Amino acid sequence: MIDYAFNGEILCMGSMNMDLVMVMDRLPEPGETVLTDNFSTYPGGKGGNQAVAAAISGARVQMFTKLGGDGFSEELIQMMKEKGVDTSRILRDPESTAGIAMIRVDKNGQNSISFTPGSNARLSPEDVEENSDLFKRGRILLLTMEIAQETIFRAIKLAHENGMFTIVDPAPAPRNGFPDSIAPLINLIKPNESEARILTGIDVHDRESARIALQRLSSMGFNLPIITLGEKGVVGVDGNDFMDLKPFDVHCVDTTAAGDVFSGALAAALSKGMHLKESLKWANAAGALSTTISGAQTSIPAPKSVEKLLRRQV
Ligand code: ADP
Repeated sequence: MIDYAFNGEILCMGSMNMDLVMVMDRLPEPGETVLTDNFSTYPGGKGGNQAVAAAISGARVQMFTKLGGDGFSEELIQMMKEKGVDTSRILRDPESTAGIAMIRVDKNGQNSISFTPGSNARLSPEDVEENSDLFKRGRILLLTMEIAQETIFRAIKLAHENGMFTIVDPAPAPRNGFPDSIAPLINLIKPNESEARILTGIDVHDRESARIALQRLSSMGFNLPIITLGEKGVVGVDGNDFMDLKPFDVHCVDTTAAGDVFSGALAAALSKGMHLKESLKWANAAGALSTTISGAQTSIPAPKSVEKLLRRQV
């Protein structure tokens, strides 16, 4: 049962990265240069994706993270602003750069990626303390894990002390799990199948194994565990109520960021006062639609499209 008075606002914490992509005939060998005629940049990072997904879904979203002093950081802020996210409290570390993924893709779709978390790794527990005014009752805290763990844990504690509702998308799942003292402070946790396996040790591959993993998550102290099952839909448990949502039937072309779109849309729906089951259905439809378009932030569906899918498939 969710018993919170939400005010339509979300505080989103997590990573923001720039993906630098070149597509080429074949990947270079060490020491070799391969020519190509293209170069594209795409905003990414799970925090950025979820903030933009929540904003497009109609919530008022404030982003809290740390960017660098480089041009990519500027561009990321600009792009996020254009999507309607409040970027005024994003911190900057002039000595660092944005998180950067350098991605080469060959004509068969094989890739080679080098990644630096850059400024994302520098968001500290002290930064959370110094910006404690952002942690307000009525807001939802939407958190992903691509930033320092001690920063995440500090934020969860502060949100709990201030009566916020915290949603954690545990991606990537922490290998050592969450401390016993932190798990009960999280109001809703939303792993996918592989994250659920890392958190519980149970091989989650279908509804039955997911159901067992949900029970395990509950016994570990997590409130409201929800497991997304990709093309198989979503399951969750709210007290004694087992929730099972079948997938929407869509033409899937690219599943990149489906989980991020699901989380952003879920947080947005809850923040606007929708009931839990209705919000899950909304997120299930948004996640499904995101797989019909390539890319991460490019694939976030407008609320009108979500409504249309919900009307078409009850
Ligand atoms: P992640 O991107 O974290 O791996 P999932 O693959 O579990 O997350 O997808 C998140 C959600 O997106 C699913 O629970 C579902 O709602 C939706 N989704 C993903 N893939 C499909 C698909 N092929 N068909 C319909 N819905 C999908």
